[in-house]
Amino acid sequence: MQRTIQTSYRYRLDPTVEQEIMLGRFAGARRFVWNWALNRKREYFQQTGKTLSYNDLAAELTRLKQQSATAWLREMDSQSLQQALRDLENAYHHFFRRIRNGEKRKGFPRFKSRKTDTPRFRIPQRVTLDGSFVSVPKIGLIRVVLHRLHEGTIKGATFKREACGHWYVCLVVEQQLASQVERPVVTHIGVDVGLKSLAVLSTGETIDNPRWYRTQSRKLRRAQKALSRKVKGSRNRDKARTQVARLHQKTKSQRNDFLHKLSTDLIRHNDLVSIEDLNVRGLAKTKLATSVLDASWGMFRAMLTYKADRAGSQLIAVGRFFPSSKTCGACGLINASLTLSDRDWTCPCGVHHDRDLNASRNIDREGMRLFEQNVAAGCAETQNACGDPVSPIVMVGTGR
Ligand SMILES: [Zn+2]
Repeated sequence: MQRTIQTSYRYRLDPTVEQEIMLGRFAGARRFVWNWALNRKREYFQQTGKTLSYNDLAAELTRLKQQSATAWLREMDSQSLQQALRDLENAYHHFFRRIRNGEKRKGFPRFKSRKTDTPRFRIPQRVTLDGSFVSVPKIGLIRVVLHRLHEGTIKGATFKREACGHWYVCLVVEQQLASQVERPVVTHIGVDVGLKSLAVLSTGETIDNPRWYRTQSRKLRRAQKALSRKVKGSRNRDKARTQVARLHQKTKSQRNDFLHKLSTDLIRHNDLVSIEDLNVRGLAKTKLATSVLDASWGMFRAMLTYKADRAGSQLIAVGRFFPSSKTCGACGLINASLTLSDRDWTCPCGVHHDRDLNASRNIDREGMRLFEQNVAAGCAETQNACGDPVSPIVMVGTGR
């Protein structure tokens, strides 16, 4: 049995001066079309009370290209312009969904500004990778920094200029994978996101924030101070801003690299990994944020999810109301008086606990319990279908 998965590869571009100008123009055209289409949709709605569909806009776009003032759009890749219309359509779709769900942040599609919007555009097809060159319609072959080879069929490409000034291409690739046979669960582990360290494992191992993290934060603080001292609108301010962006970029890649290694390691050595179902947005507001590397927990979890899926192992998220820290791992008593600052505690049963280690062991045990409960109910493959009502669980990687 085969199954199709989507994944992406990101490469840094090394364009010539002319190519870089063209990339910038493509991004500018995308922004222009987005703003034009948004304006058309709003106008049309005010006049008629109806919405302009993607097809209406695509037809109008074709006419727009024939007008002399906007004839320059013809020099751009037509599919990337249509993609801008699709992106806007999507933005509207999500906006209506958020309204339906009564969410607080509605996120009405906004006009994009040249100053604040990241230059980007997407080409849905016809982008190919040829040796260490990416072939872009109407631009030609742009050199890429080929740090790894891609596998699978390229389905689309997003070009983006990061704040550090470098252009990147992100290739969405479709791969055919043989269906994974579900691994029998022999080895299992619980992961607790610590306050003091990055994570504590139920095996007793502690994953500390990597050494570069401190150095990098210090450098970043210094660069940010330097930036704030520069005169607004000055050339030196621009330089300082780029400097800050480069440091951010570097931290981001170091962090991704670190999280990739950690997640690969956890999945490779364990048939079942249990984690806490943390609320990422809520987490960012608390003190915990710095200890999970600027709340990159969401990304880490996403990595674990797809790696577990590919390896045929289990990832279980223990419900966020499960009292992982407060429960005594030995007798099951819940210590309601435990506060965030209590690093260790002694249970009336006599057992002394390190807060994070105890939590990770409880997470491991709870994950195993939920897994076994699902197996017993004969539906290990259904997501949430027979989870504990108090501890909702998410199951992935069940060898679909
Ligand atoms: Zn106890």
